[in-house]
Amino acid sequence: MYDIVIIGGGPVGSYLAGRLAEAGDKVLTLERKGELEEQVCCTGIVSWECVNSFAIDKNVILKWTDSATIFSPSGRLLRLQQEKTQACILNRAAFNLAMARQAQSKGVKYVLNCLVRDVQISHNGVSIKATWQEEKLTFKARAAVIATGFDSNFGERLGLGKVSDFALGAQAEVETNSLEGIEVYLGRKVAPGFFAWLVPLQPKRALVGLLSRHSPGLYLRKLISSLLTQQKITSVMEKISYRGVSLKPPARTYGLRLVIVGDAAGQVKPVTGGGIYYGLLSADIAANILHQALKTNDLSAKNLANYEREWKQKLGRELQIAYYARKLYEHLGDKQIDGLFDMMSSNGIVEALLKAEDLSFDWHAKAILRALKLTGRSILSKPFRRRGLLK
Ligand SMILES: Cc1cc2nc3c(=O)[nH]c(=O)nc-3n(C[C@H](O)[C@H](O)[C@H](O)COP(=O)(O)OP(=O)(O)OC[C@H]3O[C@@H](n4cnc5c(N)ncnc54)[C@H](O)[C@@H]3O)c2cc1C
Repeated sequence: MYDIVIIGGGPVGSYLAGRLAEAGDKVLTLERKGELEEQVCCTGIVSWECVNSFAIDKNVILKWTDSATIFSPSGRLLRLQQEKTQACILNRAAFNLAMARQAQSKGVKYVLNCLVRDVQISHNGVSIKATWQEEKLTFKARAAVIATGFDSNFGERLGLGKVSDFALGAQAEVETNSLEGIEVYLGRKVAPGFFAWLVPLQPKRALVGLLSRHSPGLYLRKLISSLLTQQKITSVMEKISYRGVSLKPPARTYGLRLVIVGDAAGQVKPVTGGGIYYGLLSADIAANILHQALKTNDLSAKNLANYEREWKQKLGRELQIAYYARKLYEHLGDKQIDGLFDMMSSNGIVEALLKAEDLSFDWHAKAILRALKLTGRSILSKPFRRRGLLK
């Protein structure tokens, strides 16, 4: 019997598996993909803070970046440039493999091509039913971790509720002319309620993608055609890939002998849809709580509730404020977004945010609240005041 079975060998599952094995627990990871370095629909941008905190293998970093240019619906632009390097772009498939290799070097066993179909939990243990090369297998463990990303309903089936809000992502790799840095495009015709991006990977290669509540492929094809006309890109290298992004956690992220981490737990920045750093931060917390629970043989829901308490202590307020900001942004029309651009550039709001070092790649609440304060008692700040988030 294993101490823990981790379902899902993405970055969050692999990191958690490695932490537990390092602490001496017997860990098995089940992954439905046949190869760990299979392409992932993800841009792979993470902060310097994330790279340092989790000692991300430098070999998987394609590029460092310290700026981004944001285009308003009417084409006005805002350049955000910070003195210190803020973020880097990972080779996302190589990152998955590197995280799994690290876990394997600490003793974690992986079964690939293994699609988990059912998880049964009792007071005596966990039983996981899976299909491996058409064979039906059952794995037994003392506890299970759901790290299956956006694309699963285990949380709901196990009575923890479902990710209660999400967006759809679409992305493709393209050939570019000369792209200096990251470009972000706003507007209801481009990516209604969300944003689109063009992110350089290597000389002449970039990722173009967007998030939307519906028809992401349709919007992305329109954007690609516009970028081709502008000669920002010269051709499309790969067909469009799709994946969902969790925006709001399920009601509960723990149960008897069970925790949920990463995208499956909605540990994702609601403004940008970035989930790698928050997932890893939460996996760290899960590793400490689970290891202790295994040691004391107390895998009760009451004890594992400490996991949720701790990750919400770290990320809860951030998720709440950023989620309200996201909902607010979704209601803005193109004219209002253009108006915001004017206000941000002419009132020195951007400079003030950059100077106060509030504009962090990972932590958005401070910048959101400061920006709202700088806009005065505007209609934008009302919902935040009503909920006591802004004085
Ligand atoms: C278009 C797009 C762009 C993004 N860009 C960024 C970005 O720039 N920066 C960032 O931080 N985040 C980004 N994200 C989000 C990021 O990709 C996720 O937050 C991250 O992958 C979460 O990691 P995870 O390990 O929780 O889940 P995943 O990476 O989804 O891994 C889950 C794993 O579980 C496996 N699995 C699922 N179900 C089963 C099953 N039943 N049995 C066995 N295995 C199973 C899957 O095959 C997968 O390997 C983006 C997302 C999208 C859609």
